[in-house]
Amino acid sequence: MVIVMRPDCTPEEVARVEARLHALGLQIFRAAGANKIVIGALGDTKSVDPRDFQVLPGVVEAHRVTEPFKLASRTFHPENTVVRAASVDIGGREVVLMAGPCTVESESQTVEAARLVAAAGARVLRGGAFKPRSSPYSFQGLGEEGLKILRRAADRVGMAVVSEVMDPGQIPMMMPYVDIFQVGARNMQNFYLLRELGKVAKPVLVKRGLSATIEEWLMSAEYVMAGGNHQVLLCERGIRTFEPYTRNTLDVSAVPVVHKLSHLPVIVDPSHAVGIRVNVPPLSLAAVAAGADGLLIEVHPDPDNALCDGAQSLFPQQFAELVQKLRLIAPAAGRTLGAPARRSAGAGRRAPRTARGRTA
Ligand code: PEP
Ligand code: MN
Repeated sequence: MVIVMRPDCTPEEVARVEARLHALGLQIFRAAGANKIVIGALGDTKSVDPRDFQVLPGVVEAHRVTEPFKLASRTFHPENTVVRAASVDIGGREVVLMAGPCTVESESQTVEAARLVAAAGARVLRGGAFKPRSSPYSFQGLGEEGLKILRRAADRVGMAVVSEVMDPGQIPMMMPYVDIFQVGARNMQNFYLLRELGKVAKPVLVKRGLSATIEEWLMSAEYVMAGGNHQVLLCERGIRTFEPYTRNTLDVSAVPVVHKLSHLPVIVDPSHAVGIRVNVPPLSLAAVAAGADGLLIEVHPDPDNALCDGAQSLFPQQFAELVQKLRLIAPAAGRTLGAPARRSAGAGRRAPRTARGRTA
């Protein structure tokens, strides 16, 4: 941490700042220039709030020079983390496609969606059974019955399953059905939920909150990791800006920025970012060009009659055409795109491992 003192500060004010740093067990270095004193503090500053120093008399500014996230930081873990969800590696050379409907509506809708997205090359089936709807009158999801449908549909085509968990109480019930627990944008700072997912032996996909900074998002990943679960995926899904022509604004810059700050894989969800299906393919291409480790895309067999997010859901044919284009873009970004899932793909579980496939 660095603390800059006012040019006219008194020796007592400097002593007060240093005493406080000392009390926190930090090592202190003082640099006195012609008209400025700068105090540096070294040690474990993760629980120190720089604002406590900003408000002290004689202080101009106080800020950290290291990130408050330690486990998620690339500084202490330079190699990329590869997260293993069932038999799918995420964060290696392959760009992993996750696709499926916004919501599980019925067995036939989900089975059809799984068949079509698997045939196009998706490895992970998405589908919500618990939906965080903005209105309490909208369809809220099928609950456990939806998860059973999703699991059966995925198993038929050898896919892994990602589905949203909204409440810590749902975790034990969801365990047999999901391979990745999704934390929705609205729950990114549900710290109690994140802590509970820290105890789980399955990957957790943490979506970026609607107005979350990258640091806040990484701190949410840190919560899961601090609990002992290091299998975390970060998902950029658009942030709220002043622009009304899109549902949200896809922050493509978050992909390289997070890759520099963190060793965790970054997934991009262009569907919730842009909100209109015609814009989903170009943003998917942009995300992969920017280095995304995976895409999470809404695809529905009959989007016009979808119970949720139909306007942003791709028709299966559109998804298949997008995958063909991604096959051209991925090599340009130094990546591969997996072959379509086979029926025989198993759900063997292995610990996460580290690979060098992705550049920092
Ligand atoms: C979803 O993936 O269905 C969803 C609700 O996304 P988000 O939390 O990003 O809004
Ligand atoms: Mn949706």
